[in-house]
Amino acid sequence: MTEHSVVIVGGGPTGLMLAGELALAGVDVAIVERRASQTLAGARAGGLHARTIEILDQRGIADRFLSEGQVVQVGQFAGVSLNISDFPIRHPHSLGLWQHHIERILAGWVGELPVTVYRGREVTAFTQDETGVSIETSDGQSLRAEYLVGCDGGRSLVRKAAGIEFPGWDPTTSALIAEAEMAEEPELGVRHDAAGIHGIGRVEYEIREGKVVYAESGPVRIMVTERQLGSANEPTLRDVSEALIAVYGTDYGVRNPTWISRFTDMTRQAAVYRERRVLLAGDAAHVHAPDGGQGLNTGVQDAMNLGWKLGQVIRRTSSDGLLDTYHAERHPVGARVLRTTMALVALRRTDERTTALRDTIAELLMGDESRKRFAAMLFGLDIHYDLGPGHPLLGRRMPDLDLATASGPLRVYRLLHDARPVLINFGERGGFDIAPWADRVQSIDASYDGAWELPVIGVVTAPTAVLIRPDGYVAWVGEGSHAGLEDVLTTWFGAPAAA
Ligand SMILES: Cc1cc2nc3c(=O)[nH]c(=O)nc-3n(C[C@H](O)[C@H](O)[C@H](O)COP(=O)(O)OP(=O)(O)OC[C@H]3O[C@@H](n4cnc5c(N)ncnc54)[C@H](O)[C@@H]3O)c2cc1C
Repeated sequence: MTEHSVVIVGGGPTGLMLAGELALAGVDVAIVERRASQTLAGARAGGLHARTIEILDQRGIADRFLSEGQVVQVGQFAGVSLNISDFPIRHPHSLGLWQHHIERILAGWVGELPVTVYRGREVTAFTQDETGVSIETSDGQSLRAEYLVGCDGGRSLVRKAAGIEFPGWDPTTSALIAEAEMAEEPELGVRHDAAGIHGIGRVEYEIREGKVVYAESGPVRIMVTERQLGSANEPTLRDVSEALIAVYGTDYGVRNPTWISRFTDMTRQAAVYRERRVLLAGDAAHVHAPDGGQGLNTGVQDAMNLGWKLGQVIRRTSSDGLLDTYHAERHPVGARVLRTTMALVALRRTDERTTALRDTIAELLMGDESRKRFAAMLFGLDIHYDLGPGHPLLGRRMPDLDLATASGPLRVYRLLHDARPVLINFGERGGFDIAPWADRVQSIDASYDGAWELPVIGVVTAPTAVLIRPDGYVAWVGEGSHAGLEDVLTTWFGAPAAA
C-alpha cells in the first residue's frame, strides 16, 4: 500500500489547482486520474473570469494564461453585455481560452511542483476510518491517505460512495455540442428561434476591437438546442446532423467530428462538501447549465479555498475543524452560482412573457450600479465570506495594490506567490510583533497612497493594517489598533508557537 497525506481523485481543472496548492503547502499529495494524458476531448469551458485570473496572479502564473488567451468582455445577462473595463482591478476583463489549454497550462505548473500523478487509472472504491482513507484503484493498487478529495466531476464516484446527497433539479432543456468539420461554409454566429439559442463558430478565433473574428477555415464548434429534452444516450453525428437541419435547414455537410456531447440545465449541489475525511470540490460538488461560464471558475476557486486549509490540518498547525469553514464559505458561493444559472436558463426561453421579462431586466441593467452588481456576481468579484461585522474589506478579496516598501515597489499579489498568509502594516514601521506566528505568517511594512476601491462597493476607508489569507481574502483589518489580531491569527493560522 502506498501512502500519501492527501489523494485527489480527478485531475481536471479543480484537481490540478488543488494539487498545486497542497504542494505549495508542503503536503505529500497525489492525483489519481482516469485519463492517460491531460488531452481533453472537446473544448468545454471557454475561458477564465476576472477573479480566477486574480487567483492565478496570486500564485504568479496568470501570465502563462494571459499570453495564450484572448482578452474579452464576455459576460452577458439577459442579453446585455456586462463590460467591466472600468472595474478597479488589474485585469478588468475575462480571458477567452479553451479548457484544454487551461488544463495543459495548469498541468505544466503542477509538473514543476512535487505532486505524484497516477494516470490512466480510476479510483473504484474507498473506506474511511478514524485515521485515514483506504483507496482502491482500477489497476488493483491500494493507496492510503489522511484525506481524500473528490475532484472527479459531476458524476463523482467519491460523492456517491461517501453517501453525500446531491439535491437539486432535473434538466428541463438540453443542447447538442460538437466539434467537427463542415464541407460547406456555415452561418457563423448565434441564431435564436422558438427552440432557443444555437451557435456555430470556428474553434480558432481572435478578438479584434472587442469583436470575435473567426478563422477563415478550420473545424467548427456547434451548439444546437434540442426541441425536446435529449435522451441519456450518447449523441451521434446523425443526431447533430438532424438537429442542424431542424434549425438551419441544412447540416452544412458536417463530418469528421472530434467530439460530440450533450449538456443540460440539470442543477444540483452536494448537501455537504465534507464527510469526515472526504471532501468534494468543483463539479463533484455542484453541476449546473454552462450559461455564464462559471463551472470551471467556481471549481478552481473551491480549490483555492480548500488547499491552504487542508495543508495546515495536515501539518498540524490547525485542528481539522478548520475544514468545516470550507463548506461554510464555499457552499453559499456554489448555491448562488446555481441560482444565477437557473435564472439565465429561464431567461433563454423564447415565449412572449419571457421575452418581456428579459427586456425588463435588460432595461434594469442599463443602470451603472446594476451592471456592476451583476458583473461582479458573474465574475466572482463580489464574494464575501462571513467573517463577522467590521470594515468592508473583511472577508472580501484583497485588491492587488501597488505598494511602496523598504526594498522597493511591490504588488500585493506578489506576496501571495508562496501561498503564505501576510500581515501588511501601513502604520508606523515595526508596529506589529507577530513573532509567535512568524513561522507561518509573513509580516511587512508598506505604504500605499492611492484610493482603496472595491468592485461594486466603491471607495472604502484606508485601513492601517490587513491580514490576508493565502487565498487572497482579508481575515482581519486594522483600524488604528491591534484589537482582535491575535484571536484571528489563532483562528486561521493556529495557536502561537511557545516562546
Ligand atoms: C459545453 C460546456 C461549456 C462549458 N463552458 C464553461 C465556461 O465557459 N466556463 C466555465 O467556467 N465552465 C464551463 N463549463 C464547465 C466546466 O467544463 C466544468 O465546470 C469543469 O470542467 C469542472 O472541472 P472539474 O475539475 O471540477 O471536473 P472535470 O473537468 O469533470 O474533471 C474531473 C476529472 O476527474 C476524472 N475522473 C472522474 N472519475 C474518476 C475516477 N473514478 N477516478 C479517476 N479519475 C476520475 C475525469 O477523467 C476528469 O479528468 C462548461 C461545460 C460544458 C459541458
